[in-house]
Amino acid sequence: MVDYKSLGLVNSKEMFAKAVHGGYAIPAFNFNNMEQLQAIIKAAADTKSPVILQVSKGARNYANPILLRFMAQGAVEYAKSLGWEKPEIVLHLDHGDTFETCKDCVDNGFSSVMIDGSHLPYEENVALTKKVCDYAHAHGVTVEGELGVLAGVEDEVSSDHHTYTDPNEVVDFVERTGVDSLAISIGTSHGAYKFTPEQCTLDEKTGRLVPPPLAFDVLEAVEAKIPGFPIVLHGSSSVPQEYVDMINSMGGKLPNAIGIPEEELRKAAKMDVCKINIDSDSRLAMTAAVRKVFTEKPGEFDPRKYLGPARDEMEKLYKHKIVAVLGSDGKAE
Ligand SMILES: [Zn+2]
Repeated sequence: MVDYKSLGLVNSKEMFAKAVHGGYAIPAFNFNNMEQLQAIIKAAADTKSPVILQVSKGARNYANPILLRFMAQGAVEYAKSLGWEKPEIVLHLDHGDTFETCKDCVDNGFSSVMIDGSHLPYEENVALTKKVCDYAHAHGVTVEGELGVLAGVEDEVSSDHHTYTDPNEVVDFVERTGVDSLAISIGTSHGAYKFTPEQCTLDEKTGRLVPPPLAFDVLEAVEAKIPGFPIVLHGSSSVPQEYVDMINSMGGKLPNAIGIPEEELRKAAKMDVCKINIDSDSRLAMTAAVRKVFTEKPGEFDPRKYLGPARDEMEKLYKHKIVAVLGSDGKAE
């Protein structure tokens, strides 16, 4: 049994309460490797933003669970070495699929887990989520549940259509399961292809596709049922078109990749949304930077010379998200 507190990590309880009342959201950035982790920690330490290091089941298998635990512990020490005296860092399991996966994470240093029973019939989702909460809470670990289904593909999670969260289910779900936060579906989706061109309108001036707006009426209806309860948005990358253009102009192929406009996420962060998940944007920043090096210097074969610029680009992206989109800078002095 590895207690997350011994690694210097915190759970999300206090951080979410402050975020909901403060009108900002905590960034949840996914990571699989050292460069992503360095960029996340540097960005959080420089801006003094609380941060959630998020790991999917696929990432856990990729990085190795044991190595991952020491990376998280190392991240806390690295943050301190950057002058961040009391780092507020959460290690969170993204899309836990079974009780066993969640238990394994609780037992191995995670301070927060998600149990995603959103694809199950309602009563089964309640039962599974409650079982995870009972175990996790006994160890001081916070739990995120989900109601409603997001479209898109993320590691092993995929669905070809979304179902908005039913606001009439949230009170019963929260009360019976004991979850600490709730992921809802209001039109965000996983991956870099969040909308088809047919779903979008064309901005004549820029020639860009403009996606349909998020269902803020659903978010408002949920908030009215459980005021002040921490809400989570998955699939909230904005798919910056400058990265898509860079990738496509340098041999890549990402036709019509499109995300959630940052103004919409800013609006959600000011409401009861207290955790916003961003993964695809960091993948795009990394890929664009690596392609740029290979295009400009075809002879380069030192990984530090292309992963270094990728790390710098991700750090820039994370800082932009923290300051301009989530508003979490300066909230963990
Ligand atoms: Zn997700």
